[in-house]
Amino acid sequence: MIHPDTELRKVDDTIGRGVFATQPIPKGTILYVKDPLEIEVSAEQFETMDPQYQTLINWFSYIDEGGFRIVSWDIAKYVNHHCDSNSISTGYGFEIATRDIAAGEEITDEYGIFNLPYPLQCCCGSSRCRGTISDDDWDTYGNIWDKKAKEALKHFGKVAQPLMKFMDTEVYQSLMQYLNRRRNYRSLFRLRASGNASLEKIG
Ligand SMILES: [Zn+2]
Repeated sequence: MIHPDTELRKVDDTIGRGVFATQPIPKGTILYVKDPLEIEVSAEQFETMDPQYQTLINWFSYIDEGGFRIVSWDIAKYVNHHCDSNSISTGYGFEIATRDIAAGEEITDEYGIFNLPYPLQCCCGSSRCRGTISDDDWDTYGNIWDKKAKEALKHFGKVAQPLMKFMDTEVYQSLMQYLNRRRNYRSLFRLRASGNASLEKIG
């Protein structure tokens, strides 16, 4: 579920639509939470689906740590990638604002975290644009992304969190343990599907 102070707007003819803030949203705010209504498609289900479904699902989904394709039931699926995004995933099942977002600003995300099945070309216009976004970006940027997420979490308790009530209870307790006692941080790397697969093999 996407933050309530957002709306769908056209970006331009090349990019199409995107999600924009309708009010200022401060750094540390949950912008998206993986809530129970999200559609989860397993790798096995995906393989047997009609190609028309597969194209749409690949376009609108992200792949979670378990290899499930997650399709948002609301406008969250229209959030575009940017190589200097103002939102980033965390190890707690939500995306967080990495800086203050102004009303009217587009909300953008880091797709490199989403276990991409194939590389994507990027034309985000950032001076830091990588040109191609792929699963290999984890190796180069994983630590930077995790640092960004950890830094944003420092602001978590200082700002309004309208999406907090939709968090999974166990994840919420784990987050509170980290924020209150600085213990057992859930790193972003837990979202890497291939990392989990190799851990399973080792186990
Ligand atoms: Zn880019």
